[in-house]
Amino acid sequence: MSDPKKFIQLEDEHGAHNYHPLPVVLSSGEGAMVVDSAGRKYLDLLSAYSAMNFGHRHPRLIDAANQQLGKLTLTSRAFHNDQLGPFCAELAELAGMDAVLPMNTGAEAVETGIKTARKWGYERKGVPADQARIIAFDGNFHGRTTTIVSFSTDETARTNFGPFTPGFDLVPYGDLAATAAAITPDTVAVLVEPIQGEAGVVIPPKGWLAALRELCTENNVLLIADEIQSGLGRTGYTFACEHDGVRPDIYLLGKALGGGVVPLSAMVANRDVMDVYGPGQHGSTFGGNPLASAVGREVVAMMAEGTWQQRSRELGEHLAGALSKLDSSKVKELRVRGLWAGVELSANAPSARTVCERMADAGVLCKETHETTVRLAPPLVITEEQLDHAVAVLAKAME
Ligand SMILES: *Cc1c(COP(=O)(O)O)cnc(C)c1O
Repeated sequence: MSDPKKFIQLEDEHGAHNYHPLPVVLSSGEGAMVVDSAGRKYLDLLSAYSAMNFGHRHPRLIDAANQQLGKLTLTSRAFHNDQLGPFCAELAELAGMDAVLPMNTGAEAVETGIKTARKWGYERKGVPADQARIIAFDGNFHGRTTTIVSFSTDETARTNFGPFTPGFDLVPYGDLAATAAAITPDTVAVLVEPIQGEAGVVIPPKGWLAALRELCTENNVLLIADEIQSGLGRTGYTFACEHDGVRPDIYLLGKALGGGVVPLSAMVANRDVMDVYGPGQHGSTFGGNPLASAVGREVVAMMAEGTWQQRSRELGEHLAGALSKLDSSKVKELRVRGLWAGVELSANAPSARTVCERMADAGVLCKETHETTVRLAPPLVITEEQLDHAVAVLAKAME
């Protein structure tokens, strides 16, 4: 059975219809290339929303996983394992912070950040019981749990999932005055994506993140940076916050942290914040498991070398240059940071979905976000030639 249609039909009949994928059925991959069930090759320009920053089956990551598979895969946190401690130490060092709390999915890392901020607020800041408030931003994407969709501004993500978790205030992304005005004595945290990925690679005004940092410090509010999509090399730095010289109180990481091999997420913070936790107060059966920790250690080691970030910066400049030559009458706005681009199409271009479908037909995979934006997030192993080819295919698809 290799006919792509059969696989799609099985998903249709027996799976939930909670996604709208392009009609491509992948069965293998290496580096920036993937191959479908009929043997057709594609260039991957999405990288599983940045979970595949290092490309498909990077040998170092597959080696790390294979070695650990031969030893120990899961212990639960009832016992220690010999990968978790080193993973925490190495990731903390990479982030320039003290401590790590490992989870699995990005949404769990965000939940961890929310719980941490609330507990910190009651125990360290003196917020009255059950009054803690967290500021988030219009257009945010932080995951899919009931609490997280409670402060989504995407009606599709929210409708009929109530009742919603209280305690969140929404303000326009990039609006400093509105953020300042939303802060109350009960505000414990500001939860921000340094760049809004799902919203279409939306880059905030210059200086806003740094001003947000100051605002949080002045008001004794934790700044939580959700770097689940923007972090680990995507924007040309380990953390997108570095573009603005900002150090948050809490980093939330996921996606690429698991090397595209296993789900692995983490909250990273300094001791004064992390130490709100005692035994039994938070956790996850799979969090910090030896297999994920071993892969995560290799990811951290790769990031610590600095070459990936540099590659992302250099290729990002190349990509920005190539994209700037697209037919400007079809492009409403072009947003590029590192190897991450949102091409917002104008009204006289085809829909983003149509563009992505045409690109897939021509052997280049990317995905629309909302109706009007094509998001490009190639794996950092991609070459300049492959980028040029992808942009040429994009240009043709926009005709
Ligand atoms: C993908 C993403 C999440 C959620 O991660 P999951 O692993 O899908 O739960 C949270 N925040 C941001 C910024 C993301 O891009």
